[in-house]
Amino acid sequence: MKYIRLLFLSLSIFVTTLYGSELHLKNKFTTQEKAYLRNKKVITMCIDPNWMPFESFDKHGNYIGMTADYFKIFQKEMGILIEPLYTKSWTESLAAAKSRKCDIFSLAMATEDRKKYMNFTSAYLSIPLVIATKTDVAFMDDIKYLKNEKIGITKGYAFDEIIRKKYPNIEVVDVENLNDGLQKVANGELFGFVGTLASVGYAFQRNFVGELKIAGKFSEKWELGIGVRNDAPLLLSIFEKEIQGVSTERKQRILNKYLAIKYEKGTDYTLLIKVMIGVFIIGLFGLYHNRKLSKINKELHILKNALEEQANHDPMTNLYNRRYFHNIATYLLNLAHREKHNLSVIMIDIDFFKKVNDTYGHTIGDEVIKKLALIMLENTRKSDIVARFGGEEFVILLPKTDLEGALNIANKLKVIVENEIIVVDKRRSFSFTISLGISKVLSSDAEIDDALNRADKALYRAKESGRNRVVLYEE
Ligand code: GH3
Ligand code: MG
Ligand code: MG
Repeated sequence: MKYIRLLFLSLSIFVTTLYGSELHLKNKFTTQEKAYLRNKKVITMCIDPNWMPFESFDKHGNYIGMTADYFKIFQKEMGILIEPLYTKSWTESLAAAKSRKCDIFSLAMATEDRKKYMNFTSAYLSIPLVIATKTDVAFMDDIKYLKNEKIGITKGYAFDEIIRKKYPNIEVVDVENLNDGLQKVANGELFGFVGTLASVGYAFQRNFVGELKIAGKFSEKWELGIGVRNDAPLLLSIFEKEIQGVSTERKQRILNKYLAIKYEKGTDYTLLIKVMIGVFIIGLFGLYHNRKLSKINKELHILKNALEEQANHDPMTNLYNRRYFHNIATYLLNLAHREKHNLSVIMIDIDFFKKVNDTYGHTIGDEVIKKLALIMLENTRKSDIVARFGGEEFVILLPKTDLEGALNIANKLKVIVENEIIVVDKRRSFSFTISLGISKVLSSDAEIDDALNRADKALYRAKESGRNRVVLYEE
């Protein structure tokens, strides 16, 4: 008996190596896992109904899309019914999963919040994120240079959290779904919409031909796996095995199927639109292809940007540093002289900052500096230069702005800062203030330091006369 078993085992290993992994799949489950599947009978699945080409329901309520193709394979191999739960939105699906109305997420990213009720398999799709804008926006090499622009993200999507954290300068706006987001970009309510290359491209073909374009790509990818309710560890290991078992060729076949253009039957597209779709798709592939070909170039470019960024920015606040400020300020001073424009400077220093450090520690001190940096960025124009000059000293350079304009901004900053509350812990919180000195560039100024010195004198007067105030330089 023992020998027969051994013979069988070696034979099956032999066959497996001969015929690849697909045959191997049939016997990949443990006795326990098999028993679990037998008892379970039906697995209920939560999906995103507005997410083609990944997944959706068609007119008749059938589950369709790339993910649906994967689950057809899984269902067959597991010998169990996997039933999608009908919802109208991803938000609704999230709620259903939380209240255990479904056992799995078909395709989702592991986030801290979701990990409270779901475990996640490894990723089976890794999707590049892109930003869609109107056609007249220039191509962006990196999204991090966006400042104060309104960007739409579908409510409840995992990268919402990531993008908010990683790109604090972007103003993230929740939208209902992909079409809602793109519509808002098309009518100017939003500057851009962040989504996956595939889904944004798919929607373009249908509703936004010629109106919108992909203006940039994020460096991070969205890693998506299957979410499994966290009280079913066996189901998790089953799906993990399924994902590991899908061959590369099979993945490629599914991908190819959906990358081809799909039309809804019965819709009459004009030749022009078809041509434009073709051009768009070629452009999309071109973008991809180009990027691959010039990968080395691209890497060098990224490195160069990173080095420049490092040289120009203060690492703690990401504001410009003194060195960069001087370069750009000299340029702007000359421009202002030549074009007879106003150019104003505001010098800012945090009041009694030593006391903040002494009372709450340096880490909280740093938080205050970062908070102030953010307030200044959020309340100045794109063309203004906000720089960190020293420890808790900052300068804002305001092109095409007279003293009155500078005074308005300075007062606004002062009020926002004094109303900001810094929370230390459950029991302690405090607020802080700043003093500001203002001056404008005079036609007799040979260098920016002349104006800076006057702003510094005004700042000194603001401190002297009690702090938390704005002072204009006067002779
Ligand atoms: P004043 O109202 O006169 O400005 O009082 P002040 O206490 O703010 O005095 P001053 O501007 O001289 O103090 C600056 C302090 O800021 C001293 C230094 O320890 C602290 N500081 C400088 N850079 C940093 C930093 O990066 N992080 C933290 N936490 N503290 C810093
Ligand atoms: Mg100081
Ligand atoms: Mg100070």
